[in-house]
Amino acid sequence: QAKLAGKNRFHFFDLERDIGLRGHHVEMQRIRFALAQSEFVLHYQPRVQMRSGAVVGVEALIRWQHPERGLLAPGVFLPLIENDPLICELGCWVIDAALQQIGHWQRAGLHLPVGVNVAPYHLQHPNFLAQLAALLAQHPEVDPALLEIEIVETSALTDLDSALAVVKGCQKLGLRLALDDFGTGYSSLTYLKRLPVQTLKIDQSFVRDMLCDPDDLAILEGVIGLAKVFRRDLVAEGVETHEHGRLLLQLGCESAQGYGIARPMPAADFPPWLQRWSAPAFWQNTTTLEPQ
Ligand code: C2E
Ligand code: MG
Ligand code: MG
Ligand code: MG
Repeated sequence: QAKLAGKNRFHFFDLERDIGLRGHHVEMQRIRFALAQSEFVLHYQPRVQMRSGAVVGVEALIRWQHPERGLLAPGVFLPLIENDPLICELGCWVIDAALQQIGHWQRAGLHLPVGVNVAPYHLQHPNFLAQLAALLAQHPEVDPALLEIEIVETSALTDLDSALAVVKGCQKLGLRLALDDFGTGYSSLTYLKRLPVQTLKIDQSFVRDMLCDPDDLAILEGVIGLAKVFRRDLVAEGVETHEHGRLLLQLGCESAQGYGIARPMPAADFPPWLQRWSAPAFWQNTTTLEPQ
């Protein structure tokens, strides 16, 4: 694993390096075992249209229900396998579980788009599209348009030609695509123009800092303008407060995801949440400020 190896290269004792790598190997084996033992679960976080309150989708986020360590966030275990073929196995499990959930919700009358995150390593793997097609074929009842593949902007843009091939392959399968953590990579306008993704998800760092940092506010305004020009859907991530929501609406960003709306939750908690949910009235009354 690149990050670990890079860090250990600067140690003076090979023994220490050995132990580090062996420890890493043990952790990877543990993750492989967890996959076989069905210790992973998906939690779902709603994406809403703030003005109307409509729930327009959910994002599937992986967690590890570890028997001793409790519920682990992806940041704890995904980095250990992000450059290993194991990330593809886990990625396939995520897509399969999401398709199952979509089918389940469909049968309950809930036609809800579900976003899944795909790791750069998996996305760039030559088998990715074939695996996707096989998984879709195993769920013929599922409308592929309800599955949205989230790819991080940085991975998409390091090699545009291969990203383009994958994006087009996904579209052939009838899936939707989103660029995740948008604004944190090196998106050139040319790239955005050529990549036919429907949705841009503004990274939460801009939303978090827009209230105190004029530069972040400016980036946010720029991204909102870009989404309009390129006619892409826009979602703000990390909307933690009603204040965030209000400002985003004023700036012209209508859709949002964040703790201020709901935290990621187990699938079973979602229908009751949907019953209770209503958008704050003052969001609905917020007027959009037209850019000068
Ligand atoms: P992401 O795709 O950008 O997902 C958004 C992250 O922000 C999630 O963290 C979510 O719980 C968190 N979040 C949502 N609203 C708020 C908010 O208002 N404030 C703050 N501070 N955070 C908020 P999580 O679940 O820990 O996931 C972190 C990252 O791990 C994800 O970022 C994604 O890149 C990756 N990830 C999650 N699930 C999967 C998966 O199934 N496969 C792959 N390859 N990556 C995944
Ligand atoms: Mg995401
Ligand atoms: Mg993101
Ligand atoms: Mg992120």
